[in-house]
Amino acid sequence: MSTFQIDFGESRTSKIVGIDLGTTNSLVAVMGLTGPEIIEDSEGRKIVPSIVSLTDDNRLVAGEQARELLLTRPDRTVYSVKRLMGRGVQDIQEELKLFPFRIAEHSESVIKLRLGERTFTPPEISAAVLRQLKDNAEAALGTPVSEAVITVPAYFNDAQRQATKDAGRLAGLEVLRLVNEPTAASLAYGLDKRKDGIVAVYDFGGGTFDISILRLHEGIFEVLATNGDTHLGGDDIDNLLLRIALEDIQSEWREDLSLDSEGVQRLRRAVVQAKEQLSFVPETTIELSYKGKRYQRVIQRELFERLIAPIVERTLEPCRSCLSDAKLTPEQIDEVVMVGGSTRIPLVRAAVERLFKAKPHTELNPDEVVALGAAVQAGILAGDVENKLLLDVTPLSLGIETMGGVVSKLIHRNSTIPASATETFTTAVDGQRNVLIHVLQGERELVKDCRSLARFDLKDIDPLPAGMARIEVRFLIDANGILNVTARDARTGKEQSVEVKPSYGLTEDQVEAMIRESFEKAEEDMRERQLREARVEADNILAATAKAQKSDAYPALAPEERNAIESAIRDLESVYRGNDHHVLNEKIEALNRATQHLAESMMNTAVRGALKGTKID
Ligand code: ADP
Ligand code: MG
Repeated sequence: MSTFQIDFGESRTSKIVGIDLGTTNSLVAVMGLTGPEIIEDSEGRKIVPSIVSLTDDNRLVAGEQARELLLTRPDRTVYSVKRLMGRGVQDIQEELKLFPFRIAEHSESVIKLRLGERTFTPPEISAAVLRQLKDNAEAALGTPVSEAVITVPAYFNDAQRQATKDAGRLAGLEVLRLVNEPTAASLAYGLDKRKDGIVAVYDFGGGTFDISILRLHEGIFEVLATNGDTHLGGDDIDNLLLRIALEDIQSEWREDLSLDSEGVQRLRRAVVQAKEQLSFVPETTIELSYKGKRYQRVIQRELFERLIAPIVERTLEPCRSCLSDAKLTPEQIDEVVMVGGSTRIPLVRAAVERLFKAKPHTELNPDEVVALGAAVQAGILAGDVENKLLLDVTPLSLGIETMGGVVSKLIHRNSTIPASATETFTTAVDGQRNVLIHVLQGERELVKDCRSLARFDLKDIDPLPAGMARIEVRFLIDANGILNVTARDARTGKEQSVEVKPSYGLTEDQVEAMIRESFEKAEEDMRERQLREARVEADNILAATAKAQKSDAYPALAPEERNAIESAIRDLESVYRGNDHHVLNEKIEALNRATQHLAESMMNTAVRGALKGTKID
């Protein structure tokens, strides 16, 4: 069972780590005394390449060791597996054209990759990367590590998120929360300390480009829009340079190196190194010594920039679309955050600055910033003064009272937080000016069996016939479990809100008891709810009929029609107090039929609406 808070008591020794599980590279970080810190491996390296290889003695290895094996054992090595996480065979056709994934078997939802003689699912491969990160963390911290926050792209769907959690579990990590990568980057820059603002996160990594626009409101980030290109990144720059170098070699060595896979991999490394240096120096040399031969080519930044300009340009169109989806202009962006190794390139920085008309944040290492933010989130989860840990789900459902004393749930139990939901309700009485919003918690169907959290009035709404007003009720639970409820009259924009802490004064035992009770009483509750709903509907149709009987159309009806209506009213009234909602619904239907002609003959459309629209929500 999931609970809201867990008390660790005094003896907490293990640390919660933050992990950036990237397409190209992965990192692990932890909250230190002075802030988040990237954890290094035993050789002082921070970046763990997201590459996995099956050794000759059938062990899965990840990171640097797998990167070496990519040169010599490409048939037992796999990279970019994040592209396959949580995806079905339909989804990955594009990837298969571009990446040498060796699909061993697949069904609609399960894909398996072949490494040597064995097969693995994408979460199993990712788990090998996570295990490496976990090992590095345990060695550096000297404590066991069993809990983590892992980042995922903002656009990841449920299946992709679930696959990431599965990978964590397989690696022996409990994933306490998945955090969106752009949110993590913003946290690393402490942007959550601003009260409000709009943040654009430009993430140009190895193989993917993502742009996200977030709205920060009272410390919570909301993703307004995302865009990008899943096949655009540093790899494209590498391929461009590689092609040029291969042509050079062809003419210098009189040899087609592209046929030699180890030779190509070595040359690729040489061009990547040159590319990365060009972010800091105006000129460098691509160098390869291979099988007794030597290749050297000097390359200036100026030429480099001319070559890659079209690639950089391709990132700008998704940025413009993203702005337009978020209905924002560049001037409305308050902060721009740079993420991904490829944003080290000065040309990229300049292009982003020009587009957003703001100097982007580049103070932190762009390939570390997501992991640092994950560690900040881990620190928030682990470390507050009360020694409490907030879990990422709501333990009980949250909703509001609707007619007849029943609860309409907006956020269901076990929803991951932050969570939000909006539903539209309407008024029950003609000309109603105030709406009472009663916020409830619990699993039961009736108000009397749930916990009352708050009540407030939305006042001075536009007086309209019953059923015509549109009251939008929005529930938002932030990462700390604080619930904000806002009710808004859609016509006037008038709104009113309240903030509560649903976990306040609630013990784990009580939560458990409430859930147990809801199971035991489920049937009884459902019957009672249906009965009450039927009575509300009966009230509505009786009121609407009474109103119609006062109209000019009524005396104009044939006497037998009026008799039929009156007897249908009596029938309905006689079963109103009964306990069978089926009988009640039958009589409602009968009255509905009896008044149909009356409704049709009435010119007043509002009254017709009232007769027909007997349901209130
Ligand atoms: P991902 O999020 O896709 O896993 P990263 O954010 O770590 O990847 O970005 C990796 C990419 O960044 C690689 O293409 C790498 O070559 C590139 N990169 C790293 N450092 C630099 C640099 N100094 N200049 C240019 N590109 C760089
Ligand atoms: Mg990344």
